[in-house]
Amino acid sequence: MPNSTICLSFDFDAMSVWFGYKNVTPAMLYRGEYGARVGVPRILELLKRYNIPATFFVPGHTIESFPEPTAAILEAGHEIGHHSYAHVDPSEQTLAEEREDMERALASLGRIGVKPLGYRSPSGGFSDVTISLIEEYGFLYDSSLMADDFQPYHPRVGDQVTKDSPLVRGRASPVWELP
Ligand SMILES: [Zn+2]
Repeated sequence: MPNSTICLSFDFDAMSVWFGYKNVTPAMLYRGEYGARVGVPRILELLKRYNIPATFFVPGHTIESFPEPTAAILEAGHEIGHHSYAHVDPSEQTLAEEREDMERALASLGRIGVKPLGYRSPSGGFSDVTISLIEEYGFLYDSSLMADDFQPYHPRVGDQVTKDSPLVRGRASPVWELP
């Protein structure tokens, strides 16, 4: 039987998963808390049982709201990646807001000793400049886009395409996409 490699990655969003919604209610926030109270401990237990390393993408808001499960992820030897500050889609932010969000999340990660190699955008959303910011902040890989199933590839910067004109490809980014 040929060897296979699989990649398991989880978003530990907790309450922040709702902040892209217009109307955030206490019930929604408690549903998010489930991830911190039940979801992460249960997943960590499963990964430990099978001795599987994984990656968790964790927003800064979650790191600061739920430090114990976040610490448990690191103590178990798993990777933590950048997942914005409060899970707001970058395409809904101005460039200044997107940059501020990027840096606020990096600061949260830095306080728990993480210099992330990977980025995953909240809700899989990208603005026109997201990939450039990912390059600028020195990430090795992104895991937001879906132009392939399991083959890593390089996303492009500066594509020109509309419904009336076909794709003119921009330059390939040095950042790896792990779809
Ligand atoms: Zn998420």
